[in-house]
Amino acid sequence: MANALLLTGCKQLVTMAGPAPRRGRALREIGRVENGAVLIAGGRILATGPQPKVERQAGARRARKMDLGGRVVTPGLVDAHTHLVFAASRAAEYEQRIAGATYEQIAKAGGGILSSVRALRAASDDALAVTAGARLARMAAHGTTTVEAKSGYGLDFDNELRTLKLLRRLGKEQMVEIVPTLLAAHVVPPEFRHPGGADEYVDRIVRLFLPAVALEGLAEYCDVFVERGAFSVPQARRIFAAARALGLKPRLHAEQLARTAGARLAVEVEAASVDHLDFVNGADIRALAQSEVACILLPGCSFHLGLARYAPARQLIDAGAIVALATDCNPGTSPTLSLPMAMSVACTQMRMTPAEALAACTINAAYSLGRHARIGSIEAGKDADLAVWDVQDYREIPYYFGVNHCMDAWKGGKVIRGPE
Ligand SMILES: [Zn+2]
Repeated sequence: MANALLLTGCKQLVTMAGPAPRRGRALREIGRVENGAVLIAGGRILATGPQPKVERQAGARRARKMDLGGRVVTPGLVDAHTHLVFAASRAAEYEQRIAGATYEQIAKAGGGILSSVRALRAASDDALAVTAGARLARMAAHGTTTVEAKSGYGLDFDNELRTLKLLRRLGKEQMVEIVPTLLAAHVVPPEFRHPGGADEYVDRIVRLFLPAVALEGLAEYCDVFVERGAFSVPQARRIFAAARALGLKPRLHAEQLARTAGARLAVEVEAASVDHLDFVNGADIRALAQSEVACILLPGCSFHLGLARYAPARQLIDAGAIVALATDCNPGTSPTLSLPMAMSVACTQMRMTPAEALAACTINAAYSLGRHARIGSIEAGKDADLAVWDVQDYREIPYYFGVNHCMDAWKGGKVIRGPE
């Protein structure tokens, strides 16, 4: 076969081969191969396993060779929850919170998400494309090869669709795979902050936003922020029914700041994922464990907000729920682009093992995006999405917190160029 490429010198090859999604003890089964190799052709993985065995297969195909020099190789990381497109940082609020203001107090004073809404509405397409593109390059530099990205800072028809069109443009302009999600129901926009306004806005989403997004094929998923101060369970249920009818699958932000029963709604509507889950109770955990819904934990939020409470990762995993990890990259509560950093916080604060954390942001994250048959593990037939780490053991990826050891990210058999 023409143009086959053999990657050797994988001191540890973490394949994540096996069933997907991973639940319970299976989340620790990462398919580790010592001294492994990967054979790639046409953007796909042809063979993988111990180096001598793969070398024999490569010899028959006269593959070009590349020695990775004794590094750790994992599947390309999958960031299944980000707010990638935003206009500016909110570093001033960060300082206010450190001085004692709460997230909700800042939001009531006109800061928070609404300040990001004002900034996005005022920003040009090109300005937003430049900053979001730079973020994607930095994510790839930290090993991420697939990113879910939400709208939600537009909150009107033109700006929500503009954000999704920008994601489509970015998907063509650079190599990180983007999975678009409509999050028009992020918070109630300023124009609808009057009695009954939230329901009027939900009505607009159902009658106007969703049909337009579906018609142009601008999003795969529809997300709702189910939280006090955002949207209620009945409002979310109404949006999801309309989204489903148009082919957009539900995702939820739920149980972040208080318990609102969003997790139970996720089970009821068979959502692709329910994200945050800091305030779930025992019955919620049992319901999630018996469902097919991915539980995406976002420990970067509690870390950045300086909160003591984290999602009960151990209980969710031990009960058998499908646990994934993501950055929740956003300017208000989790301004990070690094999944290794999210893994570090997950390990030290939520007691996930390094193996569980890695599975949570590869194969299980891919499952939450409906892509586990194509990405999330290094197996024959799958896309050649890889991350190469300049460490000797996969556990060092979360262990060295705040230090990036990713050397290269590979998407479809090609190296993604990082920021200069
Ligand atoms: Zn979020």
